[in-house]
Amino acid sequence: MTGFYGAIEAGGTRFVCALGALGNGPARVKVETVIATTTPEETIENVMTFFHEHHSSETSEALQAIGIASFGPLDLDRNSEQFGQIIATPKPGWSGVDIVGKLQRAFKVPVVIDTDVNGAALAEHRWGGARDLSDFVYLTIGTGIGAGIMVNGSLIHGLNHCEWGHIRVPHSLEADPFAGCCPFHGDCLEGLASGTAIEARWGKPAVTCPSDHPAWQLEAQYLAFAVHNLVCTLFPQKVILGGGIMEQKQLFPLIRTSLIKSLGGYFNHFLGNITIDNYIVPPALGRKSGLYGAFCLAQSGCRMK
Ligand code: ZN
Repeated sequence: MTGFYGAIEAGGTRFVCALGALGNGPARVKVETVIATTTPEETIENVMTFFHEHHSSETSEALQAIGIASFGPLDLDRNSEQFGQIIATPKPGWSGVDIVGKLQRAFKVPVVIDTDVNGAALAEHRWGGARDLSDFVYLTIGTGIGAGIMVNGSLIHGLNHCEWGHIRVPHSLEADPFAGCCPFHGDCLEGLASGTAIEARWGKPAVTCPSDHPAWQLEAQYLAFAVHNLVCTLFPQKVILGGGIMEQKQLFPLIRTSLIKSLGGYFNHFLGNITIDNYIVPPALGRKSGLYGAFCLAQSGCRMK
């Protein structure tokens, strides 16, 4: 499919915007910029200025569609009057912002929005570590925790996108007296294992904890419990662990060891030739998963035309 696509990786602190073509490999980005997330009015104005400056409807580089991989929560219920809007976010001013509608009216092209982690999962499925897989999970562990879950080749959307970061995992107050920091659930997975939780528990940002700090063994245990639950419910062909916290590479062997112990050999027969090193992996596209995912969303919008 020819033409140029707009991609927006919409985050709580910055928006990455790009314009590019899609080929057999990852998106060929023509131009890319980073915009600070301030007020919705100012941020969206800057996004629109970027696309106005870099596309021309008069040439072969005409914009075909725009994809947005966004922070949330989002209303993705097609029957809802708030479809496509950011809802109930603690980020001041952003609840109920209709970025999809504003861009559609401005550029008169399809605009497709999904969560940032669903976008990242799409990109890994198309170009990264989940090519040729029909069932896998992309788990992001950063300021918060979220999951993009693909089953039978489609991302799961129930009543809305899943909020997998808020599952419960075993929490021993004896081993870990920290009560958890989720404002809704206290010690849900996000409340125990997000970057926000690590900082609250240890009194310093996760990135400043050295690789042999006890924070990482505890983190690996919670994430292994989380993946244990994924294996039991979905038995994915692969679990990709991304996000800022997973840039601590020492976590991978710790999680794999804890997961093997937690599963207790129960699933060995079904894993066949898959090794644990190939089962729990970092994103093949690295930090580009989100932006490339926005390109995937844009192209899906074009197919809907
Ligand atoms: Zn929670």
